[in-house]
Amino acid sequence: MLVLNSGSSSVKYQLLDMADGARLATGLVERIGERTSRLTHTPLNGGGDGGSGSGGETRTHDAPVPDHDAALKAAADELAADGMGLDSPELAAMGHRVVHGGRRFTEPTLIDDDVLKEIERLVPVAPLHNPANLRGIRTALALNPRLPQVAVFDTAFHTTIPEYAARYAIDVRTADEHRVRRYGFHGTSHAYVSRRTAELLGRDPSEVNVIVLHLGNGASASAVRGGVCVETSMGLTPLEGLVMGTRSGDTDPAVIFHLARVAGMSVDEIDTLLNKKSGLVGLCGDNDMREIRRRVDAGDETASLAFDIYVHRLRKYIGAYYAVLGRVDAVAFTAGVGENSAPVREAATAGLEGLGLAVDPARNEERAAVPRLVSPEDARVAVAVVPTDEELEIARQTYALVKHV
Ligand code: AMP
Repeated sequence: MLVLNSGSSSVKYQLLDMADGARLATGLVERIGERTSRLTHTPLNGGGDGGSGSGGETRTHDAPVPDHDAALKAAADELAADGMGLDSPELAAMGHRVVHGGRRFTEPTLIDDDVLKEIERLVPVAPLHNPANLRGIRTALALNPRLPQVAVFDTAFHTTIPEYAARYAIDVRTADEHRVRRYGFHGTSHAYVSRRTAELLGRDPSEVNVIVLHLGNGASASAVRGGVCVETSMGLTPLEGLVMGTRSGDTDPAVIFHLARVAGMSVDEIDTLLNKKSGLVGLCGDNDMREIRRRVDAGDETASLAFDIYVHRLRKYIGAYYAVLGRVDAVAFTAGVGENSAPVREAATAGLEGLGLAVDPARNEERAAVPRLVSPEDARVAVAVVPTDEELEIARQTYALVKHV
């Protein structure tokens, strides 16, 4: 199974063996369209269940890659050099990450002309992401028209959110005409992590209520009841909700009118401000949590305030989703910050003992790349660290769809 994540200026890919979920190769083409493009390809020899095993030699090529067509062709050449070209009989399908699936795509979907048109129709609600995803799919189809191509949508896991949680309280006709509602993103990660958390507790996902905190450069929370998503923090776009690396998360929508009227900023300037110059980077100039913690430890007050704003928002969402779920079995931390930052986990759960939430300091400090509990032995609510693996989840969903075709 070849998994492709085609972004606006980069293409990431992974080749996985579905017998055991082992990774056979990973690669990245970055800075597409610039003179400084780079392709990095690493053949791997497995490791099972998402493992990478021991790696082969990484091959790096620094040469201009003008567009997504050229990027995918270069990646296909690298894979072919390892004996796994796009026309290899062992390659069963390709799974594509597609950011926005709107309301229609609730499941992984075999791509045909009609599906391509619908992904295209959703471009106005995902102007940065869907066009890049489409370019990846179209190039793959051109390279091997017979290979099944499957779209796995970031929004799909959230299509079960009840109407009263998905609708904004704005004029219904305007909202419907322009498809304004909460869609949610990072769904592949929330699906994978909520299921892995249930496994970690030794229980069936249908019995377990989980709050998932996906804290990467982008960040989102979700409330998952019995394996079904009932609420998530990102909305029409990935701007809403938690404080992120460069995105503001929740603000009063009137901030936008105020900046337009008082500061004379254009809609595009405000868009850039809230998406690219806000969040942690806007608050303290850094968006890497490691650097922020280093500054906090050195007594930097600006970094301290940014950290406090970040974890305060997290605590508010944990409390809100506790109320949404009524009963919580686990809170799961994932992605770059969630998996690696013990101070964030500690601060996000501090003072929530009344809700049964706490971390054990020694367990929280331990570093490991496997799912683990960081709550005390007798905790009412488990606090878990569960490394996410969106590529493995895309590969599994793709495989589940095509193995019967
Ligand atoms: P992601 O988007 O999931 O790749 O997460 C990227 C973010 O994770 C970076 O911007 C950092 O803020 C954070 N991160 C990565 N490694 C660490 C670490 N060891 N400790 C704290 N934060 C980390």
